[in-house]
Amino acid sequence: MVKKVLKFGGTSVGTIDRIRHVANIIKKEQLQGNKVIAIVSAMAGKTNELISLSNEISNEFNKREFDVLLSTGEQVTCALLSGALIKLNIKAKSFLNWQIPILTDGEHTNARIVNINVENINEYLGNNGVAIIPGFQGISKNLDITTIGRGGSDATAVAVAKIFNADTCEIYTDVDGVYSTDPNKIPVAKKIDKISYDEMLELSSLGAKVMQSSAVQTAMMYNIPLEVKSTFTERKGTKIFSQENIDYSKSVTGVAYSKDDAKITITGVKDRPGVAANIFEPLSKGQINVDMVIQNISSDLKTTDITFTVKRNDVLKTKKILKDYSKIEYKEIIHNEKVAKVSIVGAGMVSTPGVTYKMFRALSDEGINILAISTSEIKLSVIIEESNTLKAIKKLHTVFDLD
Ligand code: ADP
Ligand code: ASP
Ligand code: MG
Repeated sequence: MVKKVLKFGGTSVGTIDRIRHVANIIKKEQLQGNKVIAIVSAMAGKTNELISLSNEISNEFNKREFDVLLSTGEQVTCALLSGALIKLNIKAKSFLNWQIPILTDGEHTNARIVNINVENINEYLGNNGVAIIPGFQGISKNLDITTIGRGGSDATAVAVAKIFNADTCEIYTDVDGVYSTDPNKIPVAKKIDKISYDEMLELSSLGAKVMQSSAVQTAMMYNIPLEVKSTFTERKGTKIFSQENIDYSKSVTGVAYSKDDAKITITGVKDRPGVAANIFEPLSKGQINVDMVIQNISSDLKTTDITFTVKRNDVLKTKKILKDYSKIEYKEIIHNEKVAKVSIVGAGMVSTPGVTYKMFRALSDEGINILAISTSEIKLSVIIEESNTLKAIKKLHTVFDLD
């Protein structure tokens, strides 16, 4: 007998027919003698709908109530799926976050799971029941309902797999695995059979939302193998596990993109020692995450332009902090939100020389200007004008033999 954690994303449970379909997948597993814990997301679009409702009340909606509101999406799915299983004569029950409980730490909208009580659910599984758990949420030590960040049902699934010591953790979604790039944007994208935690972590942090990055991080930390597969086809999915089991014949495994970043330039900065520290110190105190940094010295060597990138929703806060607190003299602060970050990721990059050149040449052949660059051992990211995103992904996908 195998203990399985099966997670079903929003599209997979987006309609009543789909919920019935998911109930049949679970029934099949149960009839094979497996113990099943299912983690469910809110029905597709539901979480966004709830956010819009809160915005109608206020753009600064109370965070505690925001989490209470958002957690309801997953709870609806739990009840519907349990009901659908019961209709199929399968013993099933929803366990809501406070009933289990799933304990979290950290602030509202961005909490993290620290523990889960296994007793009741294990007993229920032992009596041939299927446990249905809402993803994306928990309860704090003050008994407040918390959510764990967008896409967080993946993180719930991984935490449940770890704490319940499950044999498998399967992420059912609307594509049949992890692809070399988003298959809904680039149809020639190829499915990847196996990918390492490190590569998956880079891809998801850089925009491939097929897996939430903090879920991948936890899986990597505790060595929990994951499988991403389709709810709608029986095709083989993608296995995510540790690096030793993977053979790298290609330098680049995938291409990701995100439109979460913005570029800020401070022009005419009087250049003297300590200037960079004076810019970034108040930003760090203000919890602003700076990603890429570029400094151009002017020809007279007296002033410089400093460009850096931050998350798009931090732009106004960043500009305000710089104006109010930085101890530097400058001409002006300008920003550009119409940029995209395009990244190539591959563990094979470490042993392949010339990948950087190949990427820059490919973009230049398409007439695409690079506005900022950042690298790590297994990834290379550039900031470009947002309008060039698709062209860049297609070109990189082709030159790195991923089509
Ligand atoms: P779920 O609701 O099941 O959690 P998500 O919408 O969060 O599903 O993630 C699945 C989506 O991720 C796909 O529909 C696809 O458009 C997108 N995606 C982005 N990059 C990739 C990639 N490299 N491989 C597969 N899917 C990707
Ligand atoms: N429903 C939540 C969201 O849309 C969590 C999830 O789907 O994973 O972000
Ligand atoms: Mg998701």
